[in-house]
Amino acid sequence: MSLKGKTAVITGSNSGIGLGVARELARAGAHVVLNSYTDREEDHALAAEIAKTFGVEAKYVGADMSKGDDCRRLIVEAGGCDILVNNAGIQHVSPVESFAPEKWDAIVAINLSSAFHTTAAAVTGMREKGWGRIINIASAHGLRASPYKSAYIAAKHGVVGLSKTVALETAEDPITCNAICPGYVLTPLVEAQIPDTMKEYDMSREDVIKNVMLKRQPSKEFATVEQMGGTAVFLCSDAAAQITGTTISVDGGWTAM
Ligand code: NAD
Repeated sequence: MSLKGKTAVITGSNSGIGLGVARELARAGAHVVLNSYTDREEDHALAAEIAKTFGVEAKYVGADMSKGDDCRRLIVEAGGCDILVNNAGIQHVSPVESFAPEKWDAIVAINLSSAFHTTAAAVTGMREKGWGRIINIASAHGLRASPYKSAYIAAKHGVVGLSKTVALETAEDPITCNAICPGYVLTPLVEAQIPDTMKEYDMSREDVIKNVMLKRQPSKEFATVEQMGGTAVFLCSDAAAQITGTTISVDGGWTAM
């Protein structure tokens, strides 16, 4: 599978799944544009390292995915966007009655509205070039609910709905739009939930992983960032040209239950 000559923009890609997806797309030959809300030397160094490792062009564009204007600027500054991966996301866990409204707003903005803004900014260029792939990183929580994650689950269900709608609007173009729905992947976002959950359930780290996080993941294994990247590469392949408006679960069987 060669993505040579294609440019991929991956939101929230200086860490975790976004970085894993960027690496796999670069391995397949795509030029990559990394992003997060920071603008540090190490962010740019990450892009330089990917460029060197995979022999592609890579750059980092700082843009805050909680802000619509920044989302649209990212697509402009990328200088091309054949593959758009909407991945930026945050999490907050709280019962609905005490869920901080500003956390709700931030989660909906970063996890859902950013995908609307980047897609709106990228789709015309894809139509003009006659090829495009939009890949939204949703979640098993885009298909199933859990308590205490109201904003995240609402946003991820929204991402699945947005993916279907954009797929219909681009169905007659050589553009596809799909959502990848990961189960638990051990990234900084998940790592950050472990201490609170240990406290909440009075459990060891091992028990939290086995009996809380992986309880609903029948494989009893975390999915990996490389597997998310491999799935994204597949969605960019010719074999996936008629796959649009759907979800691909990479969740160890979670949503089979
Ligand atoms: P992570 O914390 O490692 O990565 C999140 C990325 O988003 C980081 O690069 C971060 O800098 C970026 N980001 C956060 N706020 C941003 C903002 N305002 N503007 C731009 N970038 C911003 O987490 P992850 O686990 O790799 O999560 C990536 C995506 O995968 C998220 O959308 C998450 O909901 C989804 N997901 C993760 C899991 C999992 O188990 N890790 C499961 C299902 C879905």
